[in-house]
Parts: sequence; C-alpha cells; structure tokens
Amino acid sequence: MPRTVLPSICRFCHANCGIRVEVEDGRPVRVTGDRANPAYHGFTCAKGRQLPALHAHPDRLLHSQKRTADGRFEPIASARAIDEVAARIQDLIARYGPRSIALYVGTYSGPHPATIPFAIGWLLAAGSRMVFTAATIDQPGKNIANALHGRWLGGSHVFDESDAWLLVGNNPLISMSGGIPPANPARRLRDAKARGMKLVVIDPRRTETARSADVYLQPRPGEDPALLAALLHVVIREGLFDRDFVRDHVSGFAEIEAAVAPFTPRFAAERAGVAAEDIERAARAFGGARRGCGVAGTGPNMAPRGNLTEYLLLCLNTVCGRWRRAGERVANPGALLPKAVPVAQAQAPRRALGFGEKLRVRGLANSAAGLPTAALADEILEPGDGRIRALICVGSNPIAAWPDQHKTRRAIDALDLLVTLDMKLSATSRLAHYVIAPKLSLEVPGLSLSMEALEQTYVAMGYSEPYAQYTPAIAQPPPGADVIEEWEFFYGLAQRMGLALSLYPTRAETGVLRERSDAVDVDMAHKPTTDEIFADLVARSRVPLAEVKQHAHGAIFADPPILVAPGDPDCAERLDVGNADMLRELAEVVREGARAAEVRGRPFRLVSRRMPNVYNSSGRDIDSLTRGRPYNPAYLHPDDLAALGLAEGDTVRIASDHASILGVAAAAPELRRGVLSMSHAFGDAPERDGEYREIGSTTGRLVDGAREYDRYTGIPRMSAIPVSIERAEMA
Ligand code: SF4
Repeated sequence: MPRTVLPSICRFCHANCGIRVEVEDGRPVRVTGDRANPAYHGFTCAKGRQLPALHAHPDRLLHSQKRTADGRFEPIASARAIDEVAARIQDLIARYGPRSIALYVGTYSGPHPATIPFAIGWLLAAGSRMVFTAATIDQPGKNIANALHGRWLGGSHVFDESDAWLLVGNNPLISMSGGIPPANPARRLRDAKARGMKLVVIDPRRTETARSADVYLQPRPGEDPALLAALLHVVIREGLFDRDFVRDHVSGFAEIEAAVAPFTPRFAAERAGVAAEDIERAARAFGGARRGCGVAGTGPNMAPRGNLTEYLLLCLNTVCGRWRRAGERVANPGALLPKAVPVAQAQAPRRALGFGEKLRVRGLANSAAGLPTAALADEILEPGDGRIRALICVGSNPIAAWPDQHKTRRAIDALDLLVTLDMKLSATSRLAHYVIAPKLSLEVPGLSLSMEALEQTYVAMGYSEPYAQYTPAIAQPPPGADVIEEWEFFYGLAQRMGLALSLYPTRAETGVLRERSDAVDVDMAHKPTTDEIFADLVARSRVPLAEVKQHAHGAIFADPPILVAPGDPDCAERLDVGNADMLRELAEVVREGARAAEVRGRPFRLVSRRMPNVYNSSGRDIDSLTRGRPYNPAYLHPDDLAALGLAEGDTVRIASDHASILGVAAAAPELRRGVLSMSHAFGDAPERDGEYREIGSTTGRLVDGAREYDRYTGIPRMSAIPVSIERAEMA
C-alpha cells in the first residue's frame, strides 16, 4: 500500500500545530512539521512527531473495559458499557439525586472541540451542576483577577507587535502557552528580539525562555506579589504610567498607589532575594515601552496568593495602558469564534464568587474559575446529603494530577461508580468500574478551536492572528478495535437516559457556563457526525467553517480588518486597580516584613516545571520520548546537591509537612539555590512507590489540600511548597 502524506492538526497537546502525516494502510507512520502552514511554519515538537507511537502504543486500549468483582478487567462492547453506565447513573440519581453525579475534565480533552460541550451538556441535562475542571488547579488566578479587575473590550496588546514583554513563571517555549503565541514560539521570540523587543522574565529557574531575557530576575519561589508590587511602585514613582488612560478608564489608582508604596525595590529585593537594581531595570524596561503585556504561568498561580499575582499583573498592564484604543486594528478578530466587536471601553468588574453551586466543605463554592477541584475528593468522602457518588473523568488522571494524592485515592475508592475515558489503564483508570476506549486524535476530525478560545478568555494568550485549521480524520483505528469518540459516549448516555442535549459552545475548560441563548440543541433522534457538530459549535464564526475547510494547511484570515470602535463617552464603567480584597492581601505581605516566614526543617521550595517531551501524564511511557529516563528527576542546583552530599542519580526522600515521596536527584545549574524543581502528574498509585525510577514520583502527594488554600478557588499551595530533602537509603 503506498504512503500518502496528509496535512493535519497535532492534538498531543493544546498547541494545535500544523503537521504532515504519512499514512500507510490507514495507520500514521511518520509526522513532520508542515512548512506550508502559515502560522506554524513547519514547527513541531518531539511529542507531536511521536503521534504514530502514541496511536500504536502497546498499552493502548482497543476495547472498553469493565472491572470485575475480583478486580480484573474484561473487554466490554462500547455500546453495552454505555447501557450499563447509564443504568447505574439513573439508579444513583433516583436514590441520591442528580448532585451525586460529577464530571471532571482534564487537560487532555481540550484539543477535541466536541468533548467538553457534550460532557457538560449531558451533566446539565441530567440535572447536576457538579462540573469540575483542571482550571481550578492550574491557573485559576487568571479568572479571579479578570473578574475583580474588569475587562477592556478593545482587547490587549499581543506579543508580535510589542516592544516589551513580561513573563512571570512561565516558559512558553516549552509549555506552548503563556504569552508567546503557541504557533512556533521560538521563531516568534527570535523575530521579536530582532526588532528590538525587551523581554523581562521572573522565574526561579533560568528556563529556555529566560535565556533570551534582557532583564532576568531569579527570585525565591512564591515572591511574585512582592516583585510585581515593586514594579508598580517604580512605574508609578517614575511616572512611567499612562496618565490619560488612568484618568479616563481606571478606578482605584490612589488606592493601589498607596498599597504599593511600601514595596520599594529594596524591600522587594530583600524579600525575593534579587538585586534592587534589577527590579528597577525590569520596571523601566516594561513601563518605558509603548506596547506590551505581562503574563503569568502555572507556577505563580499554584503558589500562595496566585489571585494577587494575576491581579497585580492586570494592574500593571492597565496603569501602563496596554490596551487597544479606538481606531486600532484588532490583531485577532477571531476566525472560528464569533466576530469580535471591539470597543475602546472598560467593562466593570463582575462577581468572582457567590453564585452557582456551593460545596459542603471549607466554605468553598463556585467562582469565576469554576467549582474547586481541590475539594472534589472531600465532596466524595464527606458523608451526608449531597455526597458525590459517581464520577466521570475525561482527559484526565486524577490520581497523578490532583493535590493530596492519598486523599484522592481514598475518595476514588469510596465512589459507587467511576468511569474514565482513557486510552490506557492509567493509575486512575485501573480503579475505574468502566474504562471507555476512545479514538485517538488522528482518527477523528479536528479544529484549531481551543487555542483560539484562549485568546478571548485571557489577556495576551492564544493566537496573535486570526488563524484556523480544520482536519478530517486521516487515520483508522487498528483493525478489530471498538473505540468511539469521547462525545459519542455522552451522546449515548443522554440517549439511553432519555435526555435532550444542549451544547454550550464555550470556553468550557474554565467551568464558566454561558447563557441559555448560546446553546445548540442536538438532534437526539439521528446521531450527528462530528463534522455536523463542529458546524453547530462554530455556526456564528467570523469565518465560515466551509471556507476554513478550503485551506488544508490552515490559513490566517486577516481581511477585512476590524478596528476598535470608539467607546461610549457616557460609559461610567472602569477597570478597577484598587480591589479591597486584593489590596488587603498585599498589605499582609507588608506585615510579614522583608523576610517571608521560613518553615523550620523544610529549607527547600518545590516548584513545578514542564518537561519538553511529556504533556502532564501523557507521553511519559513512550520510549522514544523519554530516552531511557521515564521519571521526573528531582532537579537541584549542583551546589545544593554537593551541600546535601548527593550525586546525580541518587535516590532522595522529599518530605513536606504533609507527606513524602522518593525521587531521583539531578543537577540543574539554571536553578536558584534552595529550589527543588520537578514535573507534576508523574508516578502512580502509592502501592507503586518503589517504581519511582520507572514511572516517576507524584508531587501532588506532598500537597495538603485542606490546610493552606485560596478562599476563592480552593487551590492549595501546589508550588513553592516547603520541603526537606535527604538521601534515601534503599534496600
Ligand atoms: S507543541 Fe503540542 S501540538 Fe505542537 S507538535 Fe508538540 S505536542 Fe503537538
């Protein structure tokens, strides 16, 4: 059979790179970057190039599985599995009410546009609002800060046009998110530097991105609020802010000016462990520029005061006037999303908390970031009315990813019904009652929708231009397989339960539900195709889907240009840089003094990191990606290794006040001393702890979900965790 070469979209991660796939007998055999793609220009990463290995993985489930009474798994036809799951869910709803059914959506479903709308649509139709997503354990501060600060309806400056850019704890060259557009970020950074853009990076690790920084600050983990307050201090003190913009569109300026007054460069420098002169250089590089934005990554959101970090970044962007004005061309007016209607006007803050479902633990509730995933295990374990008894997990592996692994395990064991949609028997799926075997990415149609949606959700995220690509399914599942698309599972459940499904074409990954008027009703009598679903989801897109389909290699749909309209001169809405709650948190930092509290006996701070060849818990079992190191090393500065009497490869015990894990020591001279850097979502259930050199270690186990948590989102301290490290003597 001859090989054919087909353009497609990589969906190993959310970046949606344009690829060329060589297909033989319906199987993908080779992936390369697509040089004809106008946004990605041939870029791929190692993960994308290993899509054929992922599709042909020996552990891949080709049939759904049902766990037997003695704990074994046996294949079950997917239709039969849906019958049985629907019956069990109906029984639980009849006995305990719809709130007993919950959904958890992880990051691996993001690249499949139909999955999340169908999953949430089914749950809502069943009468439950217990939708949990990765948004509240990843970067929840973004949603909270957006709500407290308000939105600028003209949009933000974007990377490709800026002359200064500030990155706080993110490494877009590897993570493919966080400020530099994911379409070939290295090339975009190179181009930006060539045209003179100043890059400021704040990160305890001199990352791949930080190596290109003009000003680099290497602080103690967890000190981003102090540093950002100091940047604001300098910008205001030196008059580097945009007076006209502040006068016309901002409230709370006097309050924030007073709040950052104590954050002199010297105060913040001592607190963060950096040079005061570097703080001033960073403030001048950013504040003295004409265009640019500040963007934070996952680590600062997982650290204490993540909302405050994100809020101060918005305040910095706002006082520097980094928003589009009337008459400016919109960089990305949308392609698959509805046409942007930008206007040079503020939208006042909205509620960040106090609406939607309430949880029964720790006083937590729904917020602008969704329901607190960090409390989902408690909601399963807490006895009484409203207990969650059934959980459907999509694109996720909670045992490896949620905070407080021991509690997560107890919760999973306590469920009456756990269903996962998973390509293999992951740590979580091995505990499931049913595992639904899905089709994989190249076997299903795709749309570059998830990355575009980010652009409308967060400041300076997603694409810089109106790019879109569609791909049909270009490969076949292996012969004899009984695999289905994820959306088909939820459609099947709805059919069997007699439910009418409505889809919310929304940034559902944030857990924020749209209005009913956005909903698309699904034909429950005649099962739609994936293409028909896509057409419904983007029915109001700026560029018709039919036109997007004409461009097999993707296209940038720049014309006609869309300009920002003038704001209403009578508009009284303002962006708020003086939120009382946030400034109270900032005052706490002042009260703590120039030296943050140390935790006795825990001299290191554990921070998270991305590994280039692994996407959370995906890819770490593909030999060609891990190249003989399938675990997540415990990276330390070489001087810290020496001080601890450790050598690379030694086994170490890493202990927080909550739990301990084993790890494998490795040297990383790019780290600040006192920092331990490890990737999250590795490892497996606790009974496999001894295999840390084969499967890695679960850092989530070190997190105490109930002790130190954010009152808005429930996210506990998941980064900057105080830990001790010692050699572990292994038998
Ligand atoms: S960055 Fe993500 S989408 Fe792009 S090739 Fe790598 S895994 Fe695929």
